[in-house]
Amino acid sequence: MLPRLTCFGGVGEIGGNKFLLEDRGAKVLLDFGAGFSDGSDYFDSSIEPRNVNGAGDLFEFGLLPLIRGLYSEKALQNTELRYEAPDVDAVVLSHYHSDHTARIQHVDPKIPVFCGETTSLIHVAYSEAGSSPLDGHPIRRFRTGDRFKLGSMEFEPIHVDHSIPGAYGFVIHTSEGTMAYTGDFRFHGPAGSMTRDFVERARKAETDLLLTEGTRVREDDLKANTSEKAVQEEASKIAKGTKNLIFSSFRGNDLDRINTFNEAARVSGRRLVVSMKTAMLLEKLAPDRRLKVPHLGKDVDVYVRRKKSGKLDDKDYYSWERQFLGRGVSAEEVRKRQAEVFLHLEAWNFPELIDIKPERGGTYIHAATEAFNEEGEREEEVIRNWVKHVGFRYTQLHASGHAPGDEVAALVNGVGASEVVPIHTEFPDRFKEYEKRAGWALRLPQRGVPLRIGA
Ligand SMILES: [Zn+2]
Ligand SMILES: [Zn+2]
Repeated sequence: MLPRLTCFGGVGEIGGNKFLLEDRGAKVLLDFGAGFSDGSDYFDSSIEPRNVNGAGDLFEFGLLPLIRGLYSEKALQNTELRYEAPDVDAVVLSHYHSDHTARIQHVDPKIPVFCGETTSLIHVAYSEAGSSPLDGHPIRRFRTGDRFKLGSMEFEPIHVDHSIPGAYGFVIHTSEGTMAYTGDFRFHGPAGSMTRDFVERARKAETDLLLTEGTRVREDDLKANTSEKAVQEEASKIAKGTKNLIFSSFRGNDLDRINTFNEAARVSGRRLVVSMKTAMLLEKLAPDRRLKVPHLGKDVDVYVRRKKSGKLDDKDYYSWERQFLGRGVSAEEVRKRQAEVFLHLEAWNFPELIDIKPERGGTYIHAATEAFNEEGEREEEVIRNWVKHVGFRYTQLHASGHAPGDEVAALVNGVGASEVVPIHTEFPDRFKEYEKRAGWALRLPQRGVPLRIGA
């Protein structure tokens, strides 16, 4: 079979990337994630697909493609799709965000997952602290500069800058032509030059077809593009100007943000205190010499919340949590030295504030994207109520993990592919404007409809 690409997700939506590449009998999936609004007409936070029914509840609403020889026996046990030995050679993963990984949980564990070395460490951290969608799969690790073959296709992973460490794009040489996949990217993080490396390599490889994300390609993206560096400067200013406690909710696997807030804490005479799950991640990432990882105990502390008996008893905690108990900081300790703490507190842990009893006059930093739908607005309202309840100042401060529209256009022009397929965007049509000014052809993907690769 001539090389072809089929998009089963990420079409007209942000996230949910699921791309099937086929070339002369070889079949490879590029990412296999969950869409952010997958099934939101039927499921919400109180009605969830049942794990016990494997892929069945997802098939019911067309949230997973019906591909033979892909899913595990367990995933198919109660569905009309019969289990067959693996017919897909591998899943190649760009990075460890759930909109790229979550559905790997249902993939036959005989099928190997190819991922970056850093991603494999994040997987181990999450697996030991609960579960990971990659659990049970053979893991094949790569680094920039490596090449690996899957059937007639050769993959070249190239690092990109994104809001989680270990993010990659790929140049893929097929039997008929070359394609490139960006994964998720930005240029305005601390490692912007890595994305430029990707553009350079994809250009040199004379890419025919470019599969690019366009999260922020939208009509109303007029906001100034805040860099991670700007977040650091502003957070430092806020930290120096705040008398009492600072707490912030941010994604605990965004290593850039951890470094940013750790620096803001340091210059204001504070200590960054992170959750146990984040502490676990930092421990696992520590051996990765190419990353800047703050040292637990030396640079940052870990927060210990009460569980079960409520008395910080060893027996109350999972074995992976116990290693942090001796060197942890309790609510009481945070209360005693609140002017010296920069606390990482995710929204679901806000009730901890009741134990901490913060003095009025502190600052809360909302370090995430501002709400863009009703559900998000409702969540934000609850957060604001908590902040008001403790008498804190609410501040919004965030740098996106994605490039703004004009920088996506610059990447597309830089790669110089003859065909461009926009994915991971709600507004693929907006690429028509970029197309007008350039010499490439836009190919709008349709869910489940194969696209030819090469001439
Ligand atoms: Zn994504
Ligand atoms: Zn991502």
